[in-house]
Amino acid sequence: MSRHDHFSTRSIHVGSEPDPSTGAVVPSLSVATTFRQEGVNKPLRGFDYSRSSNPTRSDLESVLTSLETCPSATVANDARHDASGGDSLVFASGSAATAAVAHWITLSKEEGGAGGKDGKGHGGHILAVNDVYGGTARYLSRASGPTGLEVTYLNMEKAGEKGIREAIRPDTKLIWLELPTNPLLLVPPVRLISDIVHSLPSETRPLILVDSTFLSPYYFTPLIPTNGEHPLADITMSSLSKYSSGHSDIILGSLTISPTTNKLRPELLKGLRFLQNAMGASPSPRDCHLMIRSIKTLSVRMIKHGLNALRVASWLSTETDLVEGVRYPGLKTDDAFAYVQDLISRNAKKELSFLGWKFPFKDDTPLENVDERRLEYTRTLGIPFGGMITFAIKDASAEQTERFCTELRIAILAESLGGVESLVEVPYGMTHAHLPQETLKELRITPNLIRLSVGIEDYEDLVEDLEQALETAMGKGEKGNGAANGKT
Ligand SMILES: *Cc1c(COP(=O)(O)O)cnc(C)c1O
Repeated sequence: MSRHDHFSTRSIHVGSEPDPSTGAVVPSLSVATTFRQEGVNKPLRGFDYSRSSNPTRSDLESVLTSLETCPSATVANDARHDASGGDSLVFASGSAATAAVAHWITLSKEEGGAGGKDGKGHGGHILAVNDVYGGTARYLSRASGPTGLEVTYLNMEKAGEKGIREAIRPDTKLIWLELPTNPLLLVPPVRLISDIVHSLPSETRPLILVDSTFLSPYYFTPLIPTNGEHPLADITMSSLSKYSSGHSDIILGSLTISPTTNKLRPELLKGLRFLQNAMGASPSPRDCHLMIRSIKTLSVRMIKHGLNALRVASWLSTETDLVEGVRYPGLKTDDAFAYVQDLISRNAKKELSFLGWKFPFKDDTPLENVDERRLEYTRTLGIPFGGMITFAIKDASAEQTERFCTELRIAILAESLGGVESLVEVPYGMTHAHLPQETLKELRITPNLIRLSVGIEDYEDLVEDLEQALETAMGKGEKGNGAANGKT
């Protein structure tokens, strides 16, 4: 692959070059746990035991590195079947990747870790966004063990520059961001945070990690510098179980290190690889193989998720009076819309420009002339930016909210997101139910809040389904009148 190849081309070909010995177009699945050596401690291509590294996992790591970090770095052809596997690390789940990062803070410097607060592996501080993924908070605060690791959760938007500067301590090793946040899809001021951090002396500055699971590298690539200087983040973390797999059938996670950071701090990659091996949260090569296939269609899925979600979000916010507080960062009326234009990946911009979008966003199509079934109409609504939407059902009780979810014919009531099928869930009672009441209140997670992962079904069907379920649940439709009163 050449460094000039674009996103979709690389998603299909990097790590998937035809097998040199057989010509097979699909890379072979390497299930071996161990590898013959040419002499004592002389592995053939660096592979010795599949917990530490495996050819199929390396192929997956190559394509992830390429998608997350190109064009500022390339993965050469010969990266394939070499145990180094680029600068991405694949784990048995997103949560295992999180655990490795947390562990890295207190890992000794000799092993490539941050050394903790005292340099000897005790203490150390993480500054995290306040509405971080529930499983991340669970690990950082409750499961990381007696390592002395400290975490501060901060509402970064509210804190502003002064608040963020004050929250960074001398022992802050890492800033943990999520973009957008879950479930309210807020966009933390990542550019401001990155500028603050880069104004600190380089030897002591904390690293920035972005969990970009909700967008995938199709829409957001914070490791690729946009202003010719530093990238927005040093590490991306992704639960590949969501959009990257796309079919709700694989659990895997990854970390990718920016080439700029890797040059400055090669010990970071060393430390994380050490932990990947030592902790044993290795992915199955079979899952890696299936993930390589899934990633080949990431582009076509993400653009359809985005187009559907933009139209569904617009429908929810303008065509029904049964919902309120619709959030989709790509909607032109959304508070985060200006950020979205700043942050959206070069690749998504390129594809959207081909479809007629203008950057900066310009809504110059006179609406009365536009047929709403056409792409032209969609272009007036905002910019596709992922497939996640949240909204509240107006004045709905917990029972009515549940009823809405179970009345849906197409979207399935289930946790998780990012699959080709639409999924719906109630954060208050499901993904975020473990949070204390005051936190739920502070994060504005109410019992009538709905998180919708918009799939790639036909838009008309999704909207018709949302409408009938809303009307039934709220007793507004023909079917609903009696039903909601419990009299039928
Ligand atoms: C799902 C998810 C995770 C955890 O990933 P798993 O693969 O389920 O362990 C982390 N962050 C975000 C934003 C997620 O959605």
